[in-house]
Amino acid sequence: MSTEAIDPKTLDSYECGACGYVYEPNRGDNTQDVAAGTAFEDLSENWRCPVCNARKPRFSNIGSINSPSGFKENLKYGFGVNTLTPGQKNLLIFGALGLGVLFFLSLYGLH
Ligand SMILES: [Zn+2]
Repeated sequence: MSTEAIDPKTLDSYECGACGYVYEPNRGDNTQDVAAGTAFEDLSENWRCPVCNARKPRFSNIGSINSPSGFKENLKYGFGVNTLTPGQKNLLIFGALGLGVLFFLSLYGLH
């Protein structure tokens, strides 16, 4: 029955990568005459972070902060970065060290 073109729940929030400010479409940005309900994608290219003046590309989609799916997506992102990187780094370091030691020993073994 509703004639609303935009469902507020489907609008994603965006977080400023420079200062952590979160643009919430449901609230808009009253410092730059952005009406509530304006999607981040519909903001002017001249729009800047109201806190630190960062441009739109510095922002990243953090999903709808009111929905569990957006939160989950955010968690998954942090989880992947935090667990994979140290493991791969260790594997690389120990793998290289092990190969180096084996190579070194084999050279000595030949003499
Ligand atoms: Zn900012």
